[in-house]
Amino acid sequence: MQKLIEKYYRSTNLPHIWCPGCGHGVVTMSIVKAIDKLQLDHDKTVIVSGIGCSSRASGYLNFDTVHSAHGRALPVATGIKLSDPELNVIVITGDGDATAIGGNHFIHAARRNINLTMILFNNNIYGMTGGQYSPLTPVNSRASTAPFGTMERNFDITELAKGAGATFVARSTAFHTQLLTDVIAKGIEHKGFSLVEAITQCPTSFGRQNKMGRASDMLKAQRDHAVTVEAAARLTPEQKAGKFLIGVLHQEEAPEYTEQYDAIIAKAQKGGK
Ligand code: SF4
Ligand code: MG
Repeated sequence: MQKLIEKYYRSTNLPHIWCPGCGHGVVTMSIVKAIDKLQLDHDKTVIVSGIGCSSRASGYLNFDTVHSAHGRALPVATGIKLSDPELNVIVITGDGDATAIGGNHFIHAARRNINLTMILFNNNIYGMTGGQYSPLTPVNSRASTAPFGTMERNFDITELAKGAGATFVARSTAFHTQLLTDVIAKGIEHKGFSLVEAITQCPTSFGRQNKMGRASDMLKAQRDHAVTVEAAARLTPEQKAGKFLIGVLHQEEAPEYTEQYDAIIAKAQKGGK
């Protein structure tokens, strides 16, 4: 662990700002472990984030990084990838950042099938700005903007990604760290738009308002409600009630955007033939 910190973190930017018990540090380390597992070239790996607690992760990682504007990580990452398709571009974002202000960018990046890997830290809330509900806050949860419970139905971000055309979709949690590292590595290896939903606990802004106990209780809830895709195949619908799937949820091959773009450039250079 110490070696990974020395190799991949910016020690000058530590200690981090995350609250005690926050899951974001664990998810960030899973990204680092996936990068290390694949032995990605340091100089060919770029990390782009939006705004929010999760997006602070880009500042802690010793790569070429961009801490961009709220909801805009994907357009910035798209520009970087188009400028040099050889780069490994990893996007770090949160549920509010990616699915509210950045929602339109999300569906179009998925539709284009551009070869980016997006890690969505889903803590079900706007943590940094004071606990407002996001499009991924489960219906009937309490938030600072919904003191009597949210009435809006939440997205299942993995279903939204599939519907929008993402060609790799996976989910894991801060509790299931080995699986999280594994699916992030698979997402990076996949050629096309990859979404990894990382369910992570926010004891400060979500857990406290929803009386979920300590951070350790929130981790136990992740453990108890998650079921792997393989295990789910052996369960009855009654046994699956109240559970969510973890693992690779969807993978398919489809033309990749930067390759298609290069083909269009070649065609234009030949006068459109
Ligand atoms: Fe983590 Fe929530 Fe604290 Fe933000 S507010 S650092 S998400 S625990
Ligand atoms: Mg959030």
